[in-house]
Amino acid sequence: MDLLPTDQLLDLDRRHVWHPYAPMPNTGPMFPVRAARGVYLELETGETLVDGMASWWTCIHGYNHPRLNQAARDQMERMSHVMFGGLTHQPAVQLAQRLVQLTPEPLQQVFFCDSGSVSVEVAMKLAVQYWHNRGRSQKQHFLTIRHGYHGDTFAAMAVCDPVNGMHHLFRNSLVEQYFADAPQIPFEGVWDDADIVSFEHILERHHQDLAAAIFEPVVQGAGGMRFYSPQYVRRARELCDQYGVLLILDEIATGFGRTGQRFACEYAGIAPDIMCVGKALTGGFMSLAATLTTSHISETFAQGEAGVFMHGPTFMANPLACAVALENLTLLDSYDWAARIQDIEAQLKQELTPCRTLPAVKDVRVLGAIAVVELHQPLDMAVAQPQLVQQGVWLRPFGRLLYTMPPYIIEPDQLRQITGAMTNVVGTLA
Ligand SMILES: *Cc1c(COP(=O)(O)O)cnc(C)c1O
Repeated sequence: MDLLPTDQLLDLDRRHVWHPYAPMPNTGPMFPVRAARGVYLELETGETLVDGMASWWTCIHGYNHPRLNQAARDQMERMSHVMFGGLTHQPAVQLAQRLVQLTPEPLQQVFFCDSGSVSVEVAMKLAVQYWHNRGRSQKQHFLTIRHGYHGDTFAAMAVCDPVNGMHHLFRNSLVEQYFADAPQIPFEGVWDDADIVSFEHILERHHQDLAAAIFEPVVQGAGGMRFYSPQYVRRARELCDQYGVLLILDEIATGFGRTGQRFACEYAGIAPDIMCVGKALTGGFMSLAATLTTSHISETFAQGEAGVFMHGPTFMANPLACAVALENLTLLDSYDWAARIQDIEAQLKQELTPCRTLPAVKDVRVLGAIAVVELHQPLDMAVAQPQLVQQGVWLRPFGRLLYTMPPYIIEPDQLRQITGAMTNVVGTLA
């Protein structure tokens, strides 16, 4: 591949390439990346930026990690891909074994797929087919909580926040699901059962039609970056059991240590019936996700009408992705990641809490390696994004939220650069 001059690259990009949630032609500021190493992004224009986004929660051990690169090279020499129907291989089996070890004990079976959204589709299909297997084919609906985010495909979108997700746009294509009020009691707040009354009422009224409840435990990510009480998760587990509804936990953003526990459901001390993981699974190296289930669920499939689970992606369990994921999880096991997340949390709290007194700021919250500065007004991206880049950091605010979830390997002075830039940008606002 010959490299294009930067201005030509940007011109072609603007005219032909869709970016996430972007207009066409793209009018927003765009920054071409030449390379990435450790916590740094190197732009074609020469600047080096400290990455505060970890490429959307994924790149927990930094870019261009020699061990992940080597795992990919080694696997590439053997095979980069084979179909997964009727064939199996070392990377998939060993990764499945590792995931079963790491996740809560009842989760024993692993379905691999390419992206988080698809792992959510798989989770929802598993739940529906499970009830069908048991002769309860009316149980096909889902209960979720407001301000959630589960992906951009249709079934996943139907359980995203109806307002943020602009459900009215897709009204006639989307199945209408049930939305409980978002939890209000914060992570460290005193629990009150009133917080889950709306969830309980929906279960009470509609459990006959509900296949599962699905939500993000403790941290709601792209739907608003909200942190809530683990007691909510614990009570939801009890209520789902009481009403005979499965519990799907979407740990795609929270999984693999980001919140301070390996999985956020560990704060609640409960296990779901179905769990989705993705994002940090390969350490940001490539796309891979998985859906885990209990034996109780998987065992019903042999007797079901189909006799099989009706799903099978072409690139299922891609060996390259599985090999890199396995190495990434080995890496995560090789140091005290929990202590590292605690240090990051302490520094984020110390350096961002003073923002609370700024007039533009509504709230500052920190949990694990996640920090959010919530503003009263939406940030003007056309202004804020270049401002952040000028200060040598990469952050991608959305709406009223300026937030960071840096790679776990970030050093204190690099993190200080991020919190400093956040403070500066927020400080310039009225
Ligand atoms: C990112 C995300 C998804 C969707 O994953 P993709 O890989 O973007 O399809 C689903 N659920 C949660 C909680 C996420 O953060």
